[in-house]
Amino acid sequence: MLSIRGVARTFTSGSQHTLALQATDLAVAENDFLTILGPSGCGKSTLLRIVAGLDQASQGQVLLDGQPVNGPGADRGMVFQSYTLFPWLTVLDNVAFGLRERGLPRKQQVEQAQAWLAKVGLQKFSQHYPKQLSGGMQQRTALARALANEPRMLLMDEPFGALDHQTRELMQELLLGIWEREKKTVLFVTHDIDEAIFMGSRVAVMSARPGRIKLELPVDLPHPRH
Ligand code: ADP
Ligand code: ADP
Repeated sequence: MLSIRGVARTFTSGSQHTLALQATDLAVAENDFLTILGPSGCGKSTLLRIVAGLDQASQGQVLLDGQPVNGPGADRGMVFQSYTLFPWLTVLDNVAFGLRERGLPRKQQVEQAQAWLAKVGLQKFSQHYPKQLSGGMQQRTALARALANEPRMLLMDEPFGALDHQTRELMQELLLGIWEREKKTVLFVTHDIDEAIFMGSRVAVMSARPGRIKLELPVDLPHPRH
C-alpha cells in the first residue's frame, strides 16, 4: 500500500547542509502496524512528515497505491506529540473539523464526531475545551479527530511521548484496540524501545548516524495482552 523508495532529506540553510534522513526504503502493507524506532534526531519525524505530505523529499519517492504523494490528503491522518488541537474549538468541533471542511450537514458532523468520541472514551467531554482536559484526554481528542476523516493510514509522531507512564499505557492499549477494530494501517514513530516492542506488528530500527533503517523485526512474541 505504502512504498517509501530511497527517500532522503537534506535541509539547507545558507552554506550549511544537514542530512536529516539518509536514503530510506520501507514498505507498509494494508493493515500493517509499523513502528519506527530510533534515537532522537535520527530523522523519524522528517520521514513521517514526508509521508504525510507536509515536507518534500530531497531524493526518492513516496508511493501510495503506486501513486506519488504530493502533499497532504484525507487518506493520511496525522497525530503529533503536542496534540495540536484548536484551542478555540470545543472537543466536539475539533473532531468535527474535517467533516465540516468536507461540507457535511451539521447534524451528521455532530453524530459522527460523537461516535468517534465514544470510541476514545470521551463522549461526556464533547462540550469541553482542550485546555480543560488532561494531556491524555487531549491526545484522545486528537486521535478521534484524525479518525473522523476516515483516513486509510494513521501517521503518529511520538504521540504518547508527553504523557505520564500510566496514561501512556492506557493510550497504547486504546490505539491497539482501534487498529484491530477499525482495520487501519498505522505508521508509528517512537524512541522508546519498550513502546516499539509492545506496539504493532513490525518494528523498523533507525540509526542516528545518520538516519537510516538498519533492520526490520517482525514482532511475533506472544502479545502481552493475550
Ligand atoms: P527525530 O524525529 O528522529 O528526532 P528529526 O526528523 O526531527 O529526528 O530530525 C533529524 C535531523 O534533521 C536532526 O538533526 C534535526 O536537527 C534536523 N532537522 C529536522 N528538521 C529540520 C529543519 N526544518 N531544518 C534543519 N534541520 C532540521
Ligand atoms: P494525564 O494525561 O494528565 O496523565 P489522564 O488522561 O489519564 O491524565 O486523565 C486525568 C484525569 O482525568 C484522571 O482523573 C482520569 O480519571 C480523568 N479521565 C481521563 N479520561 C477520562 C474519561 N474518559 N472519563 C472520565 N474521566 C477521565
